[in-house]
Amino acid sequence: MGKRILNFYAGPATLPLKALKQAKAELLDFSGTGMSVCEISHRSKEFQAVIDEASALVRELYGLPDNFHVLWLPGGASTQFYHVPWNLGVEGKPFAYINTGSWAKKAIKEAKSFGEVEVLASSEDASFTYIPRKFEMDPNAAYLHITSNETIGGIEWIKFPDPGDVPLIVDASSDLLSHPVDWSRIGLLYAGAQKNLGPAGVTLVIVREDMLERARAKDLPTMVSYVTQVEKGSMFNTPPCFPIYLSMLALRLLKEKGGLSYIEKANKRKANLLYRLIDASFGFYRGVARRDSRSRMNVTFRLPSEELEAKCVAEGKERGLIGLKGHRSVGGMRASIYNAMTLKGVKTLAEFLEEFRASNS
Ligand SMILES: *Cc1c(COP(=O)(O)O)cnc(C)c1O
Repeated sequence: MGKRILNFYAGPATLPLKALKQAKAELLDFSGTGMSVCEISHRSKEFQAVIDEASALVRELYGLPDNFHVLWLPGGASTQFYHVPWNLGVEGKPFAYINTGSWAKKAIKEAKSFGEVEVLASSEDASFTYIPRKFEMDPNAAYLHITSNETIGGIEWIKFPDPGDVPLIVDASSDLLSHPVDWSRIGLLYAGAQKNLGPAGVTLVIVREDMLERARAKDLPTMVSYVTQVEKGSMFNTPPCFPIYLSMLALRLLKEKGGLSYIEKANKRKANLLYRLIDASFGFYRGVARRDSRSRMNVTFRLPSEELEAKCVAEGKERGLIGLKGHRSVGGMRASIYNAMTLKGVKTLAEFLEEFRASNS
């Protein structure tokens, strides 16, 4: 096998090696069919078993109450930016959003096509370096939308806000299945698979039963309607079979390792390793996010100059550490350390960063 690199890209991102190996081994003959999972009918019993197991694993790992449905939908999380307000709008009720950065902004923009949008809080005043936890909830809102982890800025809602009886809608694209979640306030949670679960092309949507009543009331295009997708078991049309299959393999491994409490601990350990290094670097590395809002998934930091940042990215690459450049909209550095990034990988990065500081400060 060719050399595997340490991939710190924000998405698509690194996947568990064991899942990739199994997919490789089964590619030409899936489940004794003599075909790959990309070639069999999505109506076959073999594929039905895949989507059923993937959904059951999500249910089990998240401890989902029975009144939630698990959907595997085509398109990315960006399609959910408009599916959500289109399905869940209620006459006379505004959509409430919290603006925490680039992804929240995109969700807000799409919602504006479907009705009045209220931004209840924003951290734009400080370049999105913190989670604005204090805000006044509008009890008349159709829902409250948050971005649980802002992938670009590197800030995360460690504890979700409590919107009372208003359903909470969560874009969990970059911290999906990285920690346990309290479902008591959640109406719907969605995430593109390609950061923390599997390949691009499928979006996991977890929707509470009563949300479907709203969706049913409207005349939606068939593919947009959550009601149709629930009734058809995510198979109104051909689903993204391969991404669902590889996600299933990753979910199996997650369960094997010990589930969400295990992975939360592992993720904290990885993130703490990097943040401690940053904080103990005598100002050579500077964390971008405020301490109380630091993301456990995307560690954003700066060096003393843009020249040094470019040098660090280049030397990292030579060492087999790729994807350390920050998003083009904000610059700086970013290490994305999702579920599939190992502690060993993060330790290798930490060693490199220590050496880089020693030889450049
Ligand atoms: C990447 C990302 C998206 C967009 O996902 P696509 O699947 O590319 O549409 C949305 N929200 C967050 C938080 C993301 O990180």
